[in-house]
Amino acid sequence: RALSFLVVSCPCAFVISVPLSFFSGIGAASKAGVLIKGGNYLEALAKVDTVVFDKTGTLTKGVFNVQKVVVYDENIDENEFMYYVASAESGSNHPISKSIQKYYNKEINSTSINSIKEISGKGIEAVINNKKVLVGNEKLVNLPKDISVTDVGTILYVEIDNVFSGYIVISDEIKEDAKRAIKELKNIGIKKNIMLTGDLEKVAKKVGEDLELDETYSNLLPQDKVSKFEEIIKNKTSKGSVIFVGDGINDAPVLARADVGIAMGAMGSDAAIEAADVVIMTDEPSKIVTAIKSSNSGKNRILNMAMYSPETEDNSNIAYDTKSFNFYNPEEIYLSKERFRLLNQYLKNNLSKMENEIFEYMLSEMTYTEIAKKTGRELKSVDNSIQRIKKKLKTFIEEYEKN
Ligand code: ADP
Ligand code: MG
Repeated sequence: RALSFLVVSCPCAFVISVPLSFFSGIGAASKAGVLIKGGNYLEALAKVDTVVFDKTGTLTKGVFNVQKVVVYDENIDENEFMYYVASAESGSNHPISKSIQKYYNKEINSTSINSIKEISGKGIEAVINNKKVLVGNEKLVNLPKDISVTDVGTILYVEIDNVFSGYIVISDEIKEDAKRAIKELKNIGIKKNIMLTGDLEKVAKKVGEDLELDETYSNLLPQDKVSKFEEIIKNKTSKGSVIFVGDGINDAPVLARADVGIAMGAMGSDAAIEAADVVIMTDEPSKIVTAIKSSNSGKNRILNMAMYSPETEDNSNIAYDTKSFNFYNPEEIYLSKERFRLLNQYLKNNLSKMENEIFEYMLSEMTYTEIAKKTGRELKSVDNSIQRIKKKLKTFIEEYEKN
């Protein structure tokens, strides 16, 4: 019903063909676990050249582990120290809080909690047993002059009753899939991969180097993330769109600001799923590539394959049960919608009716023999047509590349 309504309301075939191709793009993506909230985002995805990531929960697992507990205050032992920290962290869903709960692994007595306040991008301010407890970074906790922490990891400083009491080193791991995601994004022609984080510069640098990111920005409060993002857009020299990928813990405003906001849905917050234009149902950042690819027709990809498929010099050497397009090139190159429009126009003008028909069969991955059967022609003449088609495709690409 929805579809027939659309047909009636569209004045011409061209107009209907546009939303229909959106439907198929959205459908293909949703099968792969990527939910795209509308056709307009597909268009923006097709033009993307910059991807900005949040760190925690997006590029890293968002599962922290306590590495080290250092108690400075001689009047308390580690157990008591952790009791205050775990109680203060008991009210939050932040991955950092979860790691503290896991490490402490004891029941929290809620009657000793007087109040808890979470300060996003900084930490927790709580009153436990009538003592003020601060757990967070140096934006929240005043550090004594003589303290210098050399551990690489996220550092949680702790102040109890106005006394600096110690610190906890926790660390998070980079997702295996994040490496793949960055590599594939580079392959499909994304010019810049950038990371924003509220974490320390040391941690940001390490992640940036491991993942070969182009830029990283650290020590950002949630509102700083928005202004940094604005700055990135403002200073951008290329014309493409910018996507932001986050889990929504402290970054929902940036998700809403981006041309396309992508939320990691598996462990992301409800706020993120709400604010985002695209939701990745798993926790794999490489699904961003799926989303971008779904914004282009499959023809696009196959066209690239055609470019790299070997020429058959001598007809007698062709195995006719091989596919008419070879898919041996592992690196898919991204083509813009505009290039695509030009290609379709070119094919219409330069291929004969028979060649156009054969081209369609090639796109649906038919073998030489199957195409011969379909068209009722000799294998040899099918082969000749295929060679001509490939040659014309190459001419098109070469000319396009020149301009
Ligand atoms: P990211 O930008 O990497 O996603 P966040 O913005 O969520 O990280 O947090 C930034 C920093 O704020 C953390 O590295 C930590 O220092 C501090 N922080 C945030 N939440 C907490 C918390 N619940 N307990 C302690 N510190 C916190
Ligand atoms: Mg975050």
